[in-house]
This record gives sequence, C-alpha cells and structure tokens, in this order.
Amino acid sequence: MTEQPETIRTAMITVDDDPGVSRAVARDLRRRYGQRYRIVRAESGADALEALRQMKLRGDLVAVILADYRMPEMNGIEFLERAMDIYPGARRILLTAYADTGAAIDAINVVDLDHYLLKPWDPPEEKLYPVIDALLDAWLTSDHRPVPETKVVGHRWSARCSEVREFLARNQVPYRWYNSDEPEGQRLLEAAQADGLSLPLVITPAGDPLVEPSDAELASRVGLATTPSKDFYDLIVIGGGPAGLGAAVYGASEGLRTVLLERTATGGQAGQSSRIENYLGFPDGVSGAQLTDRARRQAAKFGAEVLTTREVIALDVCGSARRVRFADGTSIDAHTIILATGVTYRRLAAPGLDGLTGRGVYYGSALTEASACLDQDIYVVGGANSAGQAAVYLARHAKSVTILVRGPSLERSMSYYLIKQIADIPNISVRTCTEVIEAGGEDHLESLTLRNTATGATETADAQLLFLFIGAAPLTDWLDGVVVRDSAGFVMAGPDLAADGDRPRGWELDRMPYHLETSVPGVFVAGDARSESAKRVASAVGEGALAVMLVHRYLEKR
Ligand SMILES: Cc1cc2nc3c(=O)[nH]c(=O)nc-3n(C[C@H](O)[C@H](O)[C@H](O)COP(=O)(O)OP(=O)(O)OC[C@H]3O[C@@H](n4cnc5c(N)ncnc54)[C@H](O)[C@@H]3O)c2cc1C
Repeated sequence: MTEQPETIRTAMITVDDDPGVSRAVARDLRRRYGQRYRIVRAESGADALEALRQMKLRGDLVAVILADYRMPEMNGIEFLERAMDIYPGARRILLTAYADTGAAIDAINVVDLDHYLLKPWDPPEEKLYPVIDALLDAWLTSDHRPVPETKVVGHRWSARCSEVREFLARNQVPYRWYNSDEPEGQRLLEAAQADGLSLPLVITPAGDPLVEPSDAELASRVGLATTPSKDFYDLIVIGGGPAGLGAAVYGASEGLRTVLLERTATGGQAGQSSRIENYLGFPDGVSGAQLTDRARRQAAKFGAEVLTTREVIALDVCGSARRVRFADGTSIDAHTIILATGVTYRRLAAPGLDGLTGRGVYYGSALTEASACLDQDIYVVGGANSAGQAAVYLARHAKSVTILVRGPSLERSMSYYLIKQIADIPNISVRTCTEVIEAGGEDHLESLTLRNTATGATETADAQLLFLFIGAAPLTDWLDGVVVRDSAGFVMAGPDLAADGDRPRGWELDRMPYHLETSVPGVFVAGDARSESAKRVASAVGEGALAVMLVHRYLEKR
C-alpha cells in the first residue's frame, strides 16, 4: 500500500490484487487528481479496509473508492459493501473485465454502485477522468468536512462518558461528540473495531482509539503535560484553580522554579462558571473557561510547569525540604509549598441520586451538559450565586428552568444582580421552601420527588436533568496530622493559628507564622481551602500572589 503527502485530507482509494493494474490505476489517478487528493493504493480488500479504518479514525475524508471485481478472499462487491459501513458517502466504482459485466450490473443494487468501469480504461482522458470528474462533482456538493480534533463516541446516559467530556472541555481540548446509537458513531466504532459495550471510545487527533481511557491516559494522549520534569523545585503549587494559577504566574514570573499540580483539570470551581461578572477588569463578564485558559497560558509563558491529572495524596516534612507524594508511589520535593486545593461540591443525600449521578444528575457541570438541555424542562438545586449563574446559562437552551431553594427566598444567599437577571428571564421560575427528597429512573433520571419544607407536602415531577449546587467542602483529609485545620477541614494560617497568642503546636521557629503560612513553616495556603477565606475568584487570585511574596520572605530568612 502506498500513500501521498499526509497534509492532503481527502483521499481516493484503489484496490486491485494485480500489482501491475493497481499501480496503473494509481498512476493515472495521481496524474490528474494528485494535487488535491491523496491517492491510496491497496492490493487486497483486507488491506484497503484497514486503510479506510485508519483514515476514519484520523478524521480524513474519502471521496472515491475504486475496487477490482475479481480478487481472491474478498471480491470487489464484498469489499465495497464493507467499505460503505465506514464511508457511506464515498462514490463507488467497480473495475471489471468484459466477462464480468453481469456481476457489475447486479452490484448496482447490492452496493449502490455509482459506476462500473471496463478494463482497460485507456485512454484515461476519455474513459476514466470524465467518470471520476462527474462523481467528484456529486461528492463535493454534499457537506464533507474533515474532523481533525479529538472524537468521543459514547452514550448520553453514561456517567463515564459525561466525565470524559467534562474533562476534555475543562482542559480546553476541542472534541467532537458522537452518540454511539447514531450512524456516524457506529461507523467510528466499526473503524476502531470496538464492540460499543465499553464506552466511551476516544479517538485522538492522531487517529489512535482509546477505549474507556482513564483521565491520566487521556491527558497524556491529547497532549497535556502530566509528569514533572524535575525532582526538586523552589515552589510546588497544589491545585489549579484561580489561587493556584495565580501563585504559578507570580512564582514563575519572579524566577522561582515552579510546578503546579492539578488533580483533574485547571480552572477549579471558577473553570465551571459560565460567567464571572464581578472579576476586576471584565465589565462584560468572562467565562471561567476563558479566564482559566489565559491564566494557564500565562503561567506556562513564564516557565511554570502546569501538570494535570496529578493528585497529591500526602505531604511530608523532610528536614528543610517539603515533599509531596502521588498515588503511583512517586514524589517530588521543594523548598516551599502553596496549598490551593479549594473546595468540592457537597453531595445531596437523597435516595436514588448517587446511582443517577452523571446520568441526568450533575454536580456543577452545567457547561458541558448545556446542549443536552435543548427544549427540556430542567431543575437546578441551590440558592447561591453558582446555582443562579447556571440557571441563567441553561435557560438559553432549555424550555424551562426551575430553581429549587430550601429557604424562603434567594435574597439571603444570592447576589442582587443575579436575582434581578433571573426575574427578567421568562423561562426561569424559582420555587422556594422546596427540597429534593428522592430521584427515580432506570438508567437515567426520570422523576424527582419534591417536598415543601413549610407544609411537608410531597409531589412527584417528571425530570430528565437536575443540576445541584449545594455548597462545598474542602478535600483536605490527606493533610490530617500534618497541618492544623479547623473543624470543617479548612486549613488554618497566619494569625488564626495563634489566636490565643501562643505559637501553633510543633512550631519551632522564633517568629510567628506569616499571614498565609500554615502550622508547617514554608507551607502556605491560598484561596477557598483557607479557613475564613472570602470564596471569590478575585480573593483567591490575590491570595495566590500574596503567598508567593511570603514564599520569597521565607526563602530569604531561612
Ligand atoms: C459555578 C460557580 C460559579 C462561581 N461564580 C463566581 C463568581 O461569579 N465570582 C466569584 O468571585 N466567585 C465565583 N465562584 C467562586 C470561585 O470560583 C471560587 O471562590 C474560586 O474558584 C476559588 O479558587 P481556589 O483556587 O481557591 O479553589 P478551586 O477553584 O476550588 O480550585 C481548587 C483546585 O484544586 C484541585 N485539587 C484539590 N485537591 C487536590 C489535590 N489533592 N491534588 C491536586 N489538585 C487538587 C481541584 O481539582 C481544583 O481544580 C463560583 C464558583 C462556582 C462553583
């Protein structure tokens, strides 16, 4: 099998078991079409099918398929029949000897043949090119665009498929989604020779199929950095939300060898916000994804290493070095650490919800699921700004959005500007004094049982999509016994550690902890993970910057 330059994304393929004939067809095709089309040549049906599968996975297009009728193992009609499963839109030509014209005529019905061409086809100017020109004209009038980006084939109600889409979106990896029940999804499954039982199937831009990949595998295959390049840094930042990204930008720009370690995707909670309207310098608001993308590029520009799918599971003090350990047993060291691990959504403990999470029930992932809301009646649970923003965003796609709030009003928990926006959007309604007490559904959400908290009355409503924004908790159990935390698990720092005038337990330095320094010298905390923090993007970024200033002070005065 021979091919032409990789840059041409549309191919013509010719298959003939006689190498002489195969070469002659390819030569004639190349002479007239080689500038615009890649001419692929194969000497058996099996080889040609394999080439078609690979092209499909890479997202290339195939305009014309020419197959010889008489081939051992798989004749031309059988081959074209199978090729149609992969590229149904490609125009099909059968090459036949005069004696086989009967079979060729039958093939018009079997494989919807566009043309049969008698051998020999000399001169091609008369017998070959006019046929192919006409077929190309027909092919070009239909909408054919190559799909270079990552492709995800999955099932709408699969929790892992939803996680993978969310992961790619939050890492700003462009992808195209295909439902496994739809014809193009099935063609991609066929091209990858995947059974469709294990989903999602992710096809990388290079055309490599990955069945049910882990986040780490996905990250490394779509070009995200996951492995530290050194074993010792000046500064390790744990967490890639606004606080961590802020710390990485300031740390790296001020010459510190800096690595940022993020468990999933950079952006943290802010990355999931559809519109941040109160961040300084963005009078028209900015989406969390845009802000994150810029911050990540800025950090990388200054030389910070930004790693994703790197969860830190332990922190050790090793003399003057601070060590972080990963689940795979590896570790890296640094002079200093900034904890910027933020908070994670609380789960609602109502029967049925856990089993339906990712199958119609979503915690905070309003952005990636927005397209699924088209013309649906959806529910949003929560009374804070995050729920309000999601409702406003989803209302653009949904038929109706109902915000369920346990308390008697939104005024106590949501900003005035959002309450006003919500009141002005006709397809959003707010139900106060209402809580979700049960969710029902077989393989996806079908109903919700709601309870009026004032009267105790219950009712069941049909529901396919529920988004929950019900507060958040810090994920800091892995720091237990290492740094001092408050009763809710938030990390204590600076003056809060010495509220009674005493030094923190185990603190051996003759100075008090700096403002954002934890009970371990050289380990700082910034953003939502800090006890008594403001829980705002601007304050998280500001604390990231301030922590870096304190890192410098710590390094100077060691
Ligand atoms: C939907 C939504 C809308 C919001 N809208 C606004 C708004 O309009 N204005 C505003 O000011 N604020 C808003 N907020 C709040 C704001 O986003 C947060 O205050 C801010 O993101 C906090 O930043 P952070 O860096 O401290 O933590 P986070 O954003 O929570 O980021 C922490 C990061 O650390 C990672 N991490 C956690 N543990 C580990 C570990 N062990 N190893 C590696 N990584 C780890 C997490 O995966 C996460 O990415 C909103 C929040 C949400 C959820």
